[in-house]
Amino acid sequence: MDKKEESIYIIGAGISGLIAAQVLESKGYTPIVIEASSGVGGRVKTDIVDGYQLDRGFQVLLDGYPKAKQYLDYDALQLQSFLPGAQIFKNGKSQTIGDPLRSLKLLLPTLKSSVGTFADKVKILKLNNTLQKQSVEDCFREPASPAGRSKKTTLEYLQEKGFSHEIITDFFKPFFSGIFLEPHLDTSSAMFEFVYKMFGEGMATLPKAGIEAIPQQLKDKLTQTTFRFDSKVKQVDSNLVTLENGEALNADYIIVATEASDLIPNMRGQDIPWKSCDTLYFTIPKMKDRKPLIGLVSDEGAHINNIFNHSVLETEQLGSEDLLSVTVVKQHDVSVEALVAIVTSELSTYCGIKNAKFLKHYRISKALPKLDTLRYDCAPSETQIKENVFLAGDYLLNGSLNAAMISGERAAQGALEKLGHIIETEV
Ligand SMILES: Cc1cc2nc3c(=O)[nH]c(=O)nc-3n(C[C@H](O)[C@H](O)[C@H](O)COP(=O)(O)OP(=O)(O)OC[C@H]3O[C@@H](n4cnc5c(N)ncnc54)[C@H](O)[C@@H]3O)c2cc1C
Repeated sequence: MDKKEESIYIIGAGISGLIAAQVLESKGYTPIVIEASSGVGGRVKTDIVDGYQLDRGFQVLLDGYPKAKQYLDYDALQLQSFLPGAQIFKNGKSQTIGDPLRSLKLLLPTLKSSVGTFADKVKILKLNNTLQKQSVEDCFREPASPAGRSKKTTLEYLQEKGFSHEIITDFFKPFFSGIFLEPHLDTSSAMFEFVYKMFGEGMATLPKAGIEAIPQQLKDKLTQTTFRFDSKVKQVDSNLVTLENGEALNADYIIVATEASDLIPNMRGQDIPWKSCDTLYFTIPKMKDRKPLIGLVSDEGAHINNIFNHSVLETEQLGSEDLLSVTVVKQHDVSVEALVAIVTSELSTYCGIKNAKFLKHYRISKALPKLDTLRYDCAPSETQIKENVFLAGDYLLNGSLNAAMISGERAAQGALEKLGHIIETEV
């Protein structure tokens, strides 16, 4: 059969689905992407509200991600970098710590800060060095202990490394809670090592036009792929995709690039648990002394976990005031109005930010998959779930843009292998 005649359907136009399409196109195929919503991006979306650029949930692209380097054109994205550090708010005071080796601006404040002991600061740099020498795959490898014990939690790992209670509470907890979207650092140390390594090797960045510029760039690269938006899939069988509107599509191969438990009959009940968060946007009067640093609130009782003044970075849309995002990781059962009131008051007490005007709230109930086992990569054949059906999505590996990209690549390679292509991967 001619390559063009193979009907390959990809369900989901998130990062994993877009990468799967690119890999298939590179071998001459013409996939069809079926997407429930009206556009690409999935969890990576940006809205323009009152002239401000609001990402649906605060997230960053770590430019050290190996797969992002392979698939994205960083120059075209006009990536804007954060400083490698954080501003820590505690007891109404603020202090800055960071990596002075990569940003001299952070040398003095880091030396002066009383966050953690001198030994903690040395350990932070030492850990950086150790992880630079380790591969990304090594971060996820199980330790070869006789008991076969799996990786520890991030908290256990930090305690074992001898970090003080203060640096864990004031820096590591809020910083990594904002990334793992859970407040206790229960996440496997595999993910900690991977993310820490990525922070050490590169920068946290945002595209000038907002995070959605990433999937838009991936979409723009596709020239042989057809998109069907506003088309929700109801069921996937070996050679059949059934849409919610009853339409049935015959398929030679299907890649399900989203949670599959609702779609594939023999996967029903295998739902993935998810981690959630709230992101609130506020406009604030222009701040003096603005730096592109993530702000962390380390007071245990606070709802706010981290804040960021987006106006410090160059953005395509410029509102007249500064734009502040606030991430709440802690689980709560308060109404949106009550949460806005709590956060507004905490911005004033903890961060000294007065006159914050609420702009928009996002409740993201399925932000990151809650996974027991984390992996960096998998073999293409491992993505096969049925004769002609393959799975993709970050939930197969770990919750990150890098993992979403790998999973999409592997699922497409799984289908290509079935189509007779020889695929060489290191997995
Ligand atoms: C708040 C937040 C913060 C994050 N922070 C970071 C970060 O800082 N760094 C990082 O690397 N990663 C971060 N992530 C994770 C990253 O965004 C995800 O790992 C990645 O976007 C997942 O892509 P995906 O393709 O696997 O899934 P998704 O983006 O979920 O894509 C799935 C797609 O499938 C579609 N779909 C679902 N069901 C159907 C159906 N029945 N029919 C048709 N289409 C369907 C959906 O509409 C969606 O477009 C964050 C995520 C969130 C939400």
